[in-house]
Amino acid sequence: MVSNDYILETRNLTKEFKGFTAVDDVTLNIQRGHIHALIGPNGAGKTTVFNLLTKYLIPTSGQILFNGKDITPVEASAISRMGMVRSFQISAVFPKLTVLENVRIALQRKEGNSFHFWKSEKILNKLNGRAEELLDSVGLLEFAKVSTLDLPYGRKRALEIATTLALDPEMLLLDEPTQGMGHEDVDVVANLIKKVSVGRTILMVEHNLHVVSKLADRITVLQRGALLMEGDYATVSADPRVKEAYLGV
Ligand code: ADP
Repeated sequence: MVSNDYILETRNLTKEFKGFTAVDDVTLNIQRGHIHALIGPNGAGKTTVFNLLTKYLIPTSGQILFNGKDITPVEASAISRMGMVRSFQISAVFPKLTVLENVRIALQRKEGNSFHFWKSEKILNKLNGRAEELLDSVGLLEFAKVSTLDLPYGRKRALEIATTLALDPEMLLLDEPTQGMGHEDVDVVANLIKKVSVGRTILMVEHNLHVVSKLADRITVLQRGALLMEGDYATVSADPRVKEAYLGV
């Protein structure tokens, strides 16, 4: 049984690289249903925290709990099956396949047999129907038959989110979802994140403070690997330590 409202917790999480402490004794509490942003200047340790949470890296010390269960010893492949999924990098999407085919493969991957293309027509139709639903939910249905290679840049991030949703995650980890985008695409992706957050928890690393202010229920600020502060946007943005460390003023 889950004993509290926190879906994800870290306790004194620490990662050292040859004596350099990249993540320093970080204790996080991510509330179920929240959009939680992880911010901080370059080198603050945000990516390393994500890599620890998704088991790309093994912590030097500390614990990670998901739904109250200690997942510190759990392997990366098992984490997504437990319901915590990191957005796929677009490089993991097959560029020569259509948008629909990419989502269908993600659905097949959920079943654990991604490369069995010989599925019966009945199953294929069912998967295509589900893929269309997912594309519709992220505003990509009109692009279903388009080659992924020809998809406009902002839409690629929506496809990445659709392939992630194919795994039906309880919690999504988004790594700089609006990076490299112009204003219009930023707004499209921010609205999409808001939409897919319904009934889910989202933890995102995000540099765009406009997006953070618009979306985040809670913000954690890291500085030099350590937790500087946590709070809502108004509290965090008004804090002199954050202004100095993050905003450079
Ligand atoms: P952020 O994502 O906040 O920019 P990172 O987590 O990428 O920060 O990096 C935090 C610190 O850890 C940086 O100083 C970085 O150089 C260092 N670091 C990250 N990965 C490694 C690694 N594999 N080996 C050595 N140092 C690393």
